[in-house]
Amino acid sequence: MNILVCIKQVPGSSNVEVDPVTGVLKRDGVASKMNPYDLYSIEMAMSLTEKYGGTVETITMGPPQAKSVIVESICMGAKKGTVLSDRKFAGADVLATAYTISQGIRKVGKFDLILCGKQTTDGDTAQVGAEVAEYLGIPHVANVLSVEEVKDGKAYVTVSLDDMVVTESVQLPCLLCAENDINSPRLPSYKVQKTVTDDLVRFISFAEFEDQDANHYGLNGSATQVERIFPPEKNTEKHSITGDSAAQAQGIFDLLASRKLI
Ligand SMILES: Cc1cc2nc3c(=O)[nH]c(=O)nc-3n(C[C@H](O)[C@H](O)[C@H](O)COP(=O)(O)OP(=O)(O)OC[C@H]3O[C@@H](n4cnc5c(N)ncnc54)[C@H](O)[C@@H]3O)c2cc1C
Repeated sequence: MNILVCIKQVPGSSNVEVDPVTGVLKRDGVASKMNPYDLYSIEMAMSLTEKYGGTVETITMGPPQAKSVIVESICMGAKKGTVLSDRKFAGADVLATAYTISQGIRKVGKFDLILCGKQTTDGDTAQVGAEVAEYLGIPHVANVLSVEEVKDGKAYVTVSLDDMVVTESVQLPCLLCAENDINSPRLPSYKVQKTVTDDLVRFISFAEFEDQDANHYGLNGSATQVERIFPPEKNTEKHSITGDSAAQAQGIFDLLASRKLI
């Protein structure tokens, strides 16, 4: 079974500042890391190939330095990976991001299973997986807790639906978005890191894509525009409620009621 995992490089800190003039995130000088949610899908992919055979590859769209997450995935057991990188991809919203990734996947090859994480820690929309699947014309399932079995061209997946858990079958090839905290992602191997060579990381630019209409990528291909971006205000207001336990309970009740929280 050949599996492709979509992974993203995100800022390593939640304290990313916003440029007050341009409204753009100041990513320079901020350390980056792999989106933590993607570690669970890599682990899921590795476990599945250990059980059923086949290989794991990874793909990311981002600036050239996003190569480091591909290398990290190789150190976790992926065979190789791809970075989709081009200035034409810059400023992409979710729609353009998903379209670019789908074009990249078409270029990289055919897979039985494509895995995505639940969401990212920066964009946080949790929409890319479903949109990539739609562009590829394959079925997709979100909130996947586990793949129980792969048999007769179908994957049997257990899915969390908030108030219940169900097991469904889905035709391969398909795209699954893994839930978080579903497994213990393996650590990258330092030994493998020492042996990773450049030929294991492929860079694909716009020029190699099948769809050569630049209006489908980056800012031009984005259906949405950011009007304003700002960090949420930090509320440091503190209240101290004193008295015996009945008075404290009443005080908490009154405070919550005054805020219309109860
Ligand atoms: C209107 C708008 C404008 C934007 N403009 C910019 C901009 O100018 N510059 C900028 O840097 N960002 C921009 N973004 C953010 C960018 O669009 C998102 O980071 C991107 O669409 C991915 O969405 P997400 O992070 O919400 O992913 P989610 O949907 O939360 O991620 C789910 C899963 O999809 C996969 N995935 C997501 N992104 C990638 C990726 N890049 N490569 C591989 N797999 C991936 C991963 O498996 C991930 O776990 C913009 C977003 C919006 C809404």
